[in-house]
Amino acid sequence: MNMTSELHTREIQRRRICVRGCVQGVGFRPTVYRYARQLNLAGLVRNDSEGVVIELQGPLARIEEFVNQLQHNPPPQAQIDDLTVAPIKLLDDAVVFEIVESTRSGRLEAGMPPDLATCDDCVRELLDPSNRRYRYPFLNCTNCGPRFTIIKELPYDRHKTSMADFHMCAACQHEYHSPENRRFDAQPNACPDCGPRLELTTADGEVIAGDPVHQAAALLKGGAVLAVKGLGGYHLSCAATNAAVVHKLRDRKKRPAKALAVMFASIEQVRECCKVSEREEAELLSPRRPIVIVNQRSESRLSAQVSPDTGDIGAFLPYTPVHQLLLNETGPLVMTSANLSEEPIISCRTELTKLLGNVAEYVLDHNRNIVRRCDDSVLKINRGRRLFIRRSRGFVPTLVKLPDDGPTILACGADLKNTFCVAVGNNAYLSQHIGDLAELAANRFHRVAIDDLLNLLQATPVAVVHDMHPSYQSTACARHLPAGEKIAVQHHHAHIVSCMIENQRIDPVIGVALDGTGYGPDNTIWGGEFMVAGLGGFERVGHFKQYPMPGGDAAARNPVRMALGILMHEGYEVRDVHTIPGLHDIPQAQRCILTQAVARGINSPMTSSAGRLFDAVAALLGLCTHADYEGQAPMRLQAVADVSDGCAYNYTVIDNDTITILCFSKTIEGIVQDLENGVAMARIAGMFHRTVADAVVEMCVRIRQHHHLQTVALSGGVFQNELLLNLVNDGLEMRGFEVLQHNVVPPNDAGIALGQAAIARQGKILCV
Ligand code: ZN
Ligand code: ZN
Ligand code: FE
Repeated sequence: MNMTSELHTREIQRRRICVRGCVQGVGFRPTVYRYARQLNLAGLVRNDSEGVVIELQGPLARIEEFVNQLQHNPPPQAQIDDLTVAPIKLLDDAVVFEIVESTRSGRLEAGMPPDLATCDDCVRELLDPSNRRYRYPFLNCTNCGPRFTIIKELPYDRHKTSMADFHMCAACQHEYHSPENRRFDAQPNACPDCGPRLELTTADGEVIAGDPVHQAAALLKGGAVLAVKGLGGYHLSCAATNAAVVHKLRDRKKRPAKALAVMFASIEQVRECCKVSEREEAELLSPRRPIVIVNQRSESRLSAQVSPDTGDIGAFLPYTPVHQLLLNETGPLVMTSANLSEEPIISCRTELTKLLGNVAEYVLDHNRNIVRRCDDSVLKINRGRRLFIRRSRGFVPTLVKLPDDGPTILACGADLKNTFCVAVGNNAYLSQHIGDLAELAANRFHRVAIDDLLNLLQATPVAVVHDMHPSYQSTACARHLPAGEKIAVQHHHAHIVSCMIENQRIDPVIGVALDGTGYGPDNTIWGGEFMVAGLGGFERVGHFKQYPMPGGDAAARNPVRMALGILMHEGYEVRDVHTIPGLHDIPQAQRCILTQAVARGINSPMTSSAGRLFDAVAALLGLCTHADYEGQAPMRLQAVADVSDGCAYNYTVIDNDTITILCFSKTIEGIVQDLENGVAMARIAGMFHRTVADAVVEMCVRIRQHHHLQTVALSGGVFQNELLLNLVNDGLEMRGFEVLQHNVVPPNDAGIALGQAAIARQGKILCV
């Protein structure tokens, strides 16, 4: 270092540092306070409307050290999007560093973090008999606890949360006001003397005496089903090792087969039952605490009833002190949203009571209101990256960056697995999981949640976007909203653009949307689509061969119908195909009706859906003729598939004048032959996966020749199948493509709203 720069760094300066991002309600100011004190810097820190403002006075070198420290070691739950440093005038009397009282931000990006799992410090206190919060089920601190689910309105202040009902005792007040305390400014701060309380009741509301956690644990171990109030709603819970009670819960919840999530007391307990990678462990332990889908060990002691279709388990760890205390006394517990089938999660006792008599015998309840329902998030770790099935608790309301500023837009999403999205400035806010809008309760929740998010954002949309599908509930919702402009966006275009946006791409790509179904502008049902897509529009350049869906939507629930439709369309005499296991499940009379319907084209719309093709193949193999839930057939097909021999079936690519058809007739022929020859199911399923992947890659190579595009975006619900996703990805990369995948929003219809918003934005920008 030379003389001048050394002098320069020793010189006393004053700097203003503005920090933007998720920096309020996450212990930012006390961290700044600690760092400044450690470095002997004078000045102040305060919240402002957009984030946090820091003024520092001292030797420049130390100010630089401070900035470095803050950027590399911010508070664990903060997210710094932007940090600027500017020189300001020296103050003569600056000697101390202080936290200045100021109003918190009313802006959602700065002032509302997602709900955070109980931190290690709090868990230690929870289990420490000498601590005043020993076994107190609502302890939290600046780094953890409820946020999104307790905030009524912004700015995030205690009196605007459901903690307003509780008055902090003197000891809690003291913690709350002391910058050195880890509960400084922790809005939900509480203790046994002043905070919420747990209560165990019967379904009828009769209070059961004694320690609620001990009693609840004993009941669970004895084979009871309990409703347990969590962060974003009630769970239904029972012992995951007890087949009879899991069966009872399934029966009562009307959920015959779909996998149930299991909560484990600790990561060690997860390891006993499941094979978990380092990355999966990190995700399970993260303060977002999603349900992570992991492989179950063959020696696992969980009941086979928990996840009958695949070897996988949706595992998660306790994220509230209530869960932690309970799980410490029980074995692994089934924890599934308290609701019926696809309805929204239940968040208040009145709703629960309607359901209870039939579903749970007891309720582990508490008196802190849930302001906002929020289901658990569900994801897989695929090759070290998140593959979301559902993005909700722990991730919402974290924003997704848009490429540009623009007008405020509300995108209503699609009907299945609905989420919606509000775009403000260059931020997109995706909602929590809403559900299937065909369910009345979910439809109502959709409207309530839209008003709620718009209110939190203080946003008034100038345009409302919806799916092109004329009879979607989300379309009807958009029509009823007051905004001036209504914009219809094609379903698969929205899928592809959502993938582009989360990968921060705006230039046109080759889009491959493999999906269940979506409305096509040509009045057919799309779902195996190849497009050249940009934010401003798309051109459909290819698709899967179309097949009839006997009975329309009923075919989606009954994969065997799809198998029948495909066989007939391929010219098989269905009577003669005795060797196909799946076909035995259709009664003779129904087979007659269906074959006639297909032959005459009655109620058998044509679809290019990739999802339905997977359904049909699963049905041909006899794996799933009637689906208990969406995606059951392809999940079972994936679970049995063995791709290790590298073989595939034939397929053909047919170039029409305007469009290229990817034709799986030869694939079907090969599968039928293999079934007749008694080839193992694992091999047939594996070869089918590889065939689809090879065919997708060949289509992309052809599209590249015409359109000179090197980047492929993969989206649509079929890409929840990581076996297929990885085969397609590797095939494309081997051919020199750059591949965009989802890891911020789900590839299924829960990601649609983001694409809708970005497309509408582009439309607006072009119009201006
Ligand atoms: Zn904590
Ligand atoms: Zn207290
Ligand atoms: Fe879709």
